Amino acid sequence: MGVQEPRCSDEIYLDANATTPVLPAAVGAVQEVMQELYGNPSSTHITGLRARHLMESTRQLARQVLGTDSGHLIFTSGATEGIQTAVVSALSAIQKDSNRLNKPRKLLLYGATEHKAVPNSLKHWNALLGIDAELLAIPVNHQGLLDLAFIRDHAADALMICTMAVNNETGARQDLRAIEEAIRSQNPQCLWMVDCVQALGKMPLALSASTIDYAPFSGHKLYAMKGIGMLYVRDEAPFSPFIAGGGQEKGLRSGTENLPGIASLKPILEALLDPEHQCFRSLDTLVAFRAQLAATLKDAFPGLVFNNDFGVSVPTTLNFAIEGFASKELLDLFDAANIRVSSGSACSSGASRSFVLDAMGLPAWQSEAAIRLSFGPAMTQAELDAACDRIRQAADALKFSCRHPQQLRPEQALKGLVQLKSGADCCYLLVAGHKAVIIDPVAPLVERLVQTMSCQHLEVMAILDTHGHADHQSAAATLRQRLGLTDAELDPLGWPAAAPQGPLALPCLSLGELTLSRMATPGHTGDAIALLLAKGDTIQAAFVGDTVLHGGLGRTDFASSDATALYSSLRALAQKVPAKALLLPAHDYHNLLFTSFEAEQRNNPLLADALSLVATMDAAAFAARKTALDQALACPQGASEIRCGVTLGELHLRPEQELQVADLARFEAPHLIDVRESHEHHLQHLGNDDSAPLSRLAQYLLDHEDDAPLICYCRSGSRSQVAAAALSRLGRQAYHLKGGVALSR
Ligand code: PLP
Repeated sequence: MGVQEPRCSDEIYLDANATTPVLPAAVGAVQEVMQELYGNPSSTHITGLRARHLMESTRQLARQVLGTDSGHLIFTSGATEGIQTAVVSALSAIQKDSNRLNKPRKLLLYGATEHKAVPNSLKHWNALLGIDAELLAIPVNHQGLLDLAFIRDHAADALMICTMAVNNETGARQDLRAIEEAIRSQNPQCLWMVDCVQALGKMPLALSASTIDYAPFSGHKLYAMKGIGMLYVRDEAPFSPFIAGGGQEKGLRSGTENLPGIASLKPILEALLDPEHQCFRSLDTLVAFRAQLAATLKDAFPGLVFNNDFGVSVPTTLNFAIEGFASKELLDLFDAANIRVSSGSACSSGASRSFVLDAMGLPAWQSEAAIRLSFGPAMTQAELDAACDRIRQAADALKFSCRHPQQLRPEQALKGLVQLKSGADCCYLLVAGHKAVIIDPVAPLVERLVQTMSCQHLEVMAILDTHGHADHQSAAATLRQRLGLTDAELDPLGWPAAAPQGPLALPCLSLGELTLSRMATPGHTGDAIALLLAKGDTIQAAFVGDTVLHGGLGRTDFASSDATALYSSLRALAQKVPAKALLLPAHDYHNLLFTSFEAEQRNNPLLADALSLVATMDAAAFAARKTALDQALACPQGASEIRCGVTLGELHLRPEQELQVADLARFEAPHLIDVRESHEHHLQHLGNDDSAPLSRLAQYLLDHEDDAPLICYCRSGSRSQVAAAALSRLGRQAYHLKGGVALSR
């Protein structure tokens, strides 16, 4: 089986807040500049003069669009440069002003939902210029609007205040007049920057009629080229060139001007100024577009909630979450349907949740599952209709197995072990025939579990918890209710009262040829158990709750914890469970998927010492070390995610584990594992046999006991990297296709 290529032909691009395609008129203008108007605007010959004319006429148009009949309007390389220039200008003026520099309290205020370019620039230049001011985030309300009272309370001590006109993740539009009043009523001198990147073309701007000191813009967010931006600077605002040199832009920004970039802005600005222009839709039309998209999304994904308040947002941004789905899963689904959207903020990649939605106080799951869908004002009705059709197709692919159970391909019917995740919480599903056991359900997964049970026609035998979770509530009771299970005779962890003894001499449930036995493992909590999955008397895997975590041991600083008991439980468990058998914890903070005693003993010195046959560590010594560890890990009160005793960082693959397609030939009989989900295969019309999405990789290992090299691949190389790292940590020879099938053409 070879690595399949995606069909990338008819892409639907709904990620305009990250960047937009270049408008055909702008492409034409750029081409003309490169072929005909290539002069240097500083040259005094005719070629240079023509170039200068193009530059100055574009600046004039920009002044009209931005409402800037005064102040400077400088061409920059983009908004990040504009932001630096504003911050350096403001802070270097403050540095020279002893009255301001020596104030008893000096604040640099910025909106809590600002693009990272803003707080990071403030922090950087505050340190470098020795201003030594305190950086303070202005809180926002649940709509993402800035707290005006907070601004009023702190403005008197503020040296600079940075706010944004429109947020890039939610489209939330700030009331600039109200912010101006809050600042100026307290501090007319304070320097005020407004990041207008996402506002251009989406709301009217009248900069010179305001007291905004600095306003950065970026061309690539509105159909111009990348590498071109603008900075407005008010006449009264201090200015210090960020780039010094040949004195271009009247000495305000040196370096030969980016004429192709400037040329690409011109048709955009002309279109914005011409109400009859066919290119950009009216505000009313954009609002109607949003309504159509929102209705389609709601209809296609019943569990969908919007994270942004349409009443205070520009119409071109929709931010949503679907209960039970991580944003990465949805992103992969949309990408497989050739719809480009983004998860949380594209600019803060790596983050698993959105700091913007966190600042708005949205529930953790909404922040973890956030998807941003954004379009530009040049969107057409035909493009919108196509996007809506494709969204329905994506949703249908997700429901595929439910709507057509008789058409299920073997890999679509659930069997064996399935790992579902909500953030760092793991829930497991064990399926044999038409029976299922659910282990450690959490609330955000309830809807998904209910749907899965019904569409796969599964009968739920038991819903079990590995312990009474100290940091979150089990969703077992809700799930039982939703599934209409009314079994009365259950213990608090969901275990049937009359479970018989099984082959491991422990109470057990039978699932076809498998058994699930219950073993007490007190320590993290008093009631903790491990669930041992066995075929005959061979234990294949153990659901260990928080007793053993990837790279850690469950915390023992809860009321019902006992570090001494944990020591005995670990030793008893390690005696029963083979060193290579899979351990499946209740949390997975670093996407390691599974572990084993062997892997943990390599990675966790405390566990290694506790289990060592030669070491002399006793329960008391273990408890002392564990207690010290717990103290070092103390979590802030109210933290939504308690990392139960895990300190491990991310795992990195060795360069030789990252393969190009050409490298595949060097392996003799590897297992090629496609880790994409089955709905992605459906959307891409693939029929891969060797498919094991991350959620079923554990079962793949149980099914393939040989030691052949494992080569994982997926769409972009991100999930395959996770899989290879997890497998490699387990001690397997694991590799992945770098860049995924997206780059394998
Ligand atoms: N500010 C906001 C609100 C943005 O959305 C972005 C880009 O995502 C930037 C600043 C940075 O812009 P640039 O890419 O032009 O540096």
